Amino acid sequence: MSEKSFNTRVVHNKINQDQALNSKATPIYQTSAFTFKDLDHLESYYSGDTPYLYTRENNPNTDELGRTVANLEAAPAGVAASSGISAIMAGILSIAESGDHIVAAEDLYGGTHHLITKQLASFGIEYTMVSFSDLEAVEQAIKPNTKLIYTESISNPFLRVEDIEGLVKLAKERGLKTMVDNTFATPYLLQPYTMGVDLVAHSATKYIGGHSDVTSGVVVGHEDLIDNAKKKVIGLGTNLSPFEAWLTQRGSKTLALRMKQQSSNAEQLASALKEDEGVERVYYPEQVSDRGKGAIVTIKLNQSVNLESFFKSLGWIKIAPTLAGVETTVSYPIRTSHRSLTDEERDKVGIDDYVVRLSIGIEEAEDIIAQFKKAITDSIK
Ligand SMILES: *Cc1c(COP(=O)(O)O)cnc(C)c1O
Repeated sequence: MSEKSFNTRVVHNKINQDQALNSKATPIYQTSAFTFKDLDHLESYYSGDTPYLYTRENNPNTDELGRTVANLEAAPAGVAASSGISAIMAGILSIAESGDHIVAAEDLYGGTHHLITKQLASFGIEYTMVSFSDLEAVEQAIKPNTKLIYTESISNPFLRVEDIEGLVKLAKERGLKTMVDNTFATPYLLQPYTMGVDLVAHSATKYIGGHSDVTSGVVVGHEDLIDNAKKKVIGLGTNLSPFEAWLTQRGSKTLALRMKQQSSNAEQLASALKEDEGVERVYYPEQVSDRGKGAIVTIKLNQSVNLESFFKSLGWIKIAPTLAGVETTVSYPIRTSHRSLTDEERDKVGIDDYVVRLSIGIEEAEDIIAQFKKAITDSIK
């Protein structure tokens, strides 16, 4: 898909037509259920001629969001859920059940790591986590009961770019499904479904929504898997509310504009910080797509920097345990996203006190660079 057509499609994502009043924006169907004029009408829901019955099962706003993200990922179907984690859970459960095994990357987002190692494990889903930098290690982790290979297109916080093509090839050879969390890259940069991945998940709380005002998730992919994932969302009660779906949908229209500006700002900041004496190392991808390299920059501060002082000297840049909003923020992985990891797991992933993750916003690049440089300079001991 060309950049132009993506930029146009992301804006023209209104799917529900309000037949009565022709509203320009999709109305919010803030209702728990839909009514029926007689029993024939009720019966028509079950024959598929009437689309809506009960919001936990189906609602125009949540449907619209699922279809929009599917459209942006060039996948045939999608379902929205109450959070990124619940979308990921629905996706995994559409493929694996008790007694099955998952091979997952060891550097997954903390919440997903917890989901797999604690919650899904308690349902009897087995897992092995290995470094996905080494495809041979992935292959060796496959067992007779393995059903799924799970990873992220860009990892957190060190921004390792996944070899999606290599994984898809391996999975296909071994008859396994693949699922990729595409939250950091967004479909603006990468579309894993078009590379052969079976399911693509998003924490829409992040770039799809984009304004830090909603918690939501979406999983997209093959129709049969999404039908199954939808049954999990309905049956486990992890549906998204209509208003949150509407907010996410509204935010999604500016995805291309935001990602363009945020990626460009991040790239400029990454090069500026490479030259900074207070920064030991800058983690920023070498290559993601022709459109950019993403809007997250992770730095390892030099031990000459006083950390308390750095976090106090950030001025208008706030500390926030999230990413992807229009405002630049910083997060501290060791105290937030990776807090639940054991010391050994943290060491393996490489997270220590000096690692700080920067989520770059849409402000002026010059201002972002100046503020970070000042916070570092002011904090050198
Ligand atoms: C935030 C995030 C999640 C979890 O999403 P929630 O909306 O918080 O449930 C999953 N994966 C990645 C990469 C994330 O950044």
